Amino acid sequence: MSDICELCRRADLLQIYEPHGSTRGLKVYLCDCCGLVQSLPRIDRAGRAPAAISGGADWGDVRTGKSFRTQAAIAALKRHADFNGDLSVLDVGSNRGSFVQAMLQTAPHAAITAIEPDARIAESCAHAERTEVVCARIEDAALETERFDIVHSCHTIQHLAEPARVLADHWRGLKPGGLLILDAPNIALIDSGDIAEEWFIDKHLYHFSARTLMRLVSAAGFVVVAAPDLADRKNLLIVARKMNCGARPLLADSREVAEAARLISAYQAARARNLAALTFVAAEIAAMAPKRVAIWGAGRLFDSLVVHGGFVPAMLSHLIDQHLLKHVDSRFGRPLDAPESLARANPDVVIVMSRGFADEICAEAHQLAPRAEIITYSDLLQRAHLRKAA
Ligand SMILES: [Zn+2]
Repeated sequence: MSDICELCRRADLLQIYEPHGSTRGLKVYLCDCCGLVQSLPRIDRAGRAPAAISGGADWGDVRTGKSFRTQAAIAALKRHADFNGDLSVLDVGSNRGSFVQAMLQTAPHAAITAIEPDARIAESCAHAERTEVVCARIEDAALETERFDIVHSCHTIQHLAEPARVLADHWRGLKPGGLLILDAPNIALIDSGDIAEEWFIDKHLYHFSARTLMRLVSAAGFVVVAAPDLADRKNLLIVARKMNCGARPLLADSREVAEAARLISAYQAARARNLAALTFVAAEIAAMAPKRVAIWGAGRLFDSLVVHGGFVPAMLSHLIDQHLLKHVDSRFGRPLDAPESLARANPDVVIVMSRGFADEICAEAHQLAPRAEIITYSDLLQRAHLRKAA
C-alpha cells in the first residue's frame, strides 16, 4: 500500500502529529493538497485488540456509540426514501442490530442484508425477520451490482484502509438513484477546550471533516443530497444519491489544509494543558474525603484521571458505568457498579466523568441520588485551571 492521499491521490502527505500510546505505531499525516487527515501505516488486517479502556491511542474494542446514531439515520433517510415501498437495504457493520431493528419497524416491506465481521455480534441479527446476515468484512463482501435501494454505513468508513474503493463498491451495489447514508466521527470535535483523551486512536485510519468526507463521497460518483449538520461537532451524517456524474478532477484546497493544521495544533495545546491540570482535579476529589464520593463514568476520562492525574480510585464509595459493565467488571481494582446502585449507595457527591453525555448523566444521577451534590468533569477542570494559574 503506497503512501499517497486517499482523497486526491497525490504524494503530499506531511506528518503533523504522533498519537500517544499507539500500539500500531501510527502517525497522523495531513495532505498538503486537499487537507485530508489520515493515519499511516494503513494496517487494516491487524488482529482485534482486547478491550483496552484507555485515554490513549490504544482505546480498544468497546463499541458503545453506534446505536445512539440509529434514530438520526432513520430520520435523515425518511426525508429522501419512501419507507412504504419495497426497499432493499444494505447495513454495513450491523453490530448488535440497532439499525436493522429500527428499519424493520419503520419500513414494513424492507428486506435487509446485514454485514458484520464479528460472528458473535452478527448472531444478534441472525433471527430477525426479512434479514439476511452476512458474516464478513465489507471489503471482502462481494456485493451484487445494482441490488440495493439504500446502503447504510455508520462509523465504519474511518476504520477502512481504502475507503474510496469501498465507497465505489457501495456505488456499484446501489440501483441508479439509490441512497447512501454515511455517518462518521467529526474531526471538529478535537476543537473542544476540555479534551483530555487521545482522539487519534489506533482503530481510526481517517479523520474526516465535513468537507473532506463530502469530497470523498462525491469523488465516488455520488451527489450529496444532505450535507452534515454544521452544529453537530461529533458526527458527520451525509445522505448521497447514486448518479452518473463521471470522474471530476480533485482540486487543491488550501483553506482546508490550513484549517486542519490549525485544529490539530489547537488540540495538542489544549490536551497538554488539560492533562497537566488533572493532578489538581485528582487532588480536589481526594480532599472530599471522608464524604462518600461516587464517580459516574469509568471510561477514557477516568483512565486519564488515574494515569495522568495520579487519582487513587480506592477512596471512592462507588464507580458507576452502565456501558463498560457489559465488557469489564472492574477498573484499576475498583469494581464497577450499575447506575441503579446509586439509589442504595446514598453518596454525598456524584462526579460525572463524561464530556459527551454529561447533561443526560447529571439528570439521571439527580433522580437516583437526590441528596447528592453533582459535580461535572468540566466544573472540576475549570477550577483546576484556576488553581494551577494561581
Ligand atoms: Zn489529498
